[in-house]
Amino acid sequence: MGKASRDKRDIYYRKAKEEGWRARSAFKLLQIDEEFNIFEGVKHVVDLCAAPGSWSQVLSRKVYLPAKLSPDSEESDLPLIVAIDLQPMAPIEGVIQVQGDITNARTAETNYFLYFLILRSFGILMEARLISLCDGAPDVTGLHDMDEFVQSQLILAALTIVTHILKTGGKFIAKIFRGKDTSLLYCQLKLFFTEVTFAKPKSSRNSSIEAFVVCENYSPPEGFNQKDLHRLLEKIGSPSGADDLDCSSGWLEGPNKVYIPFLACGDLNGYDSDRSYPLPKSTDGSYQSLDPVQPPIAPPYKRALEMKKASSHGLQGLEKLSIDP
Ligand code: SAM
Repeated sequence: MGKASRDKRDIYYRKAKEEGWRARSAFKLLQIDEEFNIFEGVKHVVDLCAAPGSWSQVLSRKVYLPAKLSPDSEESDLPLIVAIDLQPMAPIEGVIQVQGDITNARTAETNYFLYFLILRSFGILMEARLISLCDGAPDVTGLHDMDEFVQSQLILAALTIVTHILKTGGKFIAKIFRGKDTSLLYCQLKLFFTEVTFAKPKSSRNSSIEAFVVCENYSPPEGFNQKDLHRLLEKIGSPSGADDLDCSSGWLEGPNKVYIPFLACGDLNGYDSDRSYPLPKSTDGSYQSLDPVQPPIAPPYKRALEMKKASSHGLQGLEKLSIDP
């Protein structure tokens, strides 16, 4: 699909370029905020799986810059925003970036000690209001069960981090893929948050299984030890039985069905992500498509493109590329 054609079919892609966002995902976070007011009183944010950085841009504009520009702000009191991703990201004002894998504890403990220290420092900033975001997505295979499983592993990794850094009352917002285990996930998250709502921003296509879970008021079970997280989650029940479980009391008993609060968010009269919109023409009747605000620095597909190019120049180039680290 050409740029102009995508501009027509994907209004949020076009609007993102016009408004200076690195990705259309920015609108998803903004629309979640419209409904849930997630940034109210927030001081620090951890943005997991953040590249190319449109959510971090939202955080910079909504959390960091207002504090920095406030006349009473002091350097030492500025919000701390940490963005983590497998991929490198171009800089964003007020956002500390860490390149790493959120599912790998050893990564945090060894190579990315900075990340670890930051998490620890969040732990001691007891007065600070913190939220944690996770827009992580695996490379989608199209095999629904597989994609949902890999996605749930990212949420689990994010929850592990959350239970180490979130202060009572904090919030956690994560991307999910809706599927047969959604009820189980809901029950698991209800163990830690008093309010758990599934949300579908208007900028997320209806045809997509993507949705977001908005968890509010972090309040882990009394005496909770982070080391027991997995054991605790397993107690919630097996995925296959989740639909028959009652998690209203935090534990699953009886055959009661779990009803999950599900909200559409964003202005309902706003742009519909499943519709095409006419392109704005300049006075001479032509349409000029804008370039992306910030192309990815080192996207995973870059190497594949290099290999494809090399193969068209003969096997030698291909062999050379495949042994390069
Ligand atoms: N929120 C981002 C934004 O607004 O620009 C978009 C995030 S994108 C949909 C999903 C990201 O998840 C990708 O950049 C990918 O590298 C990252 N990701 C996937 N698995 C990861 C992992 N195990 N650790 C860290 N990042 C991961």
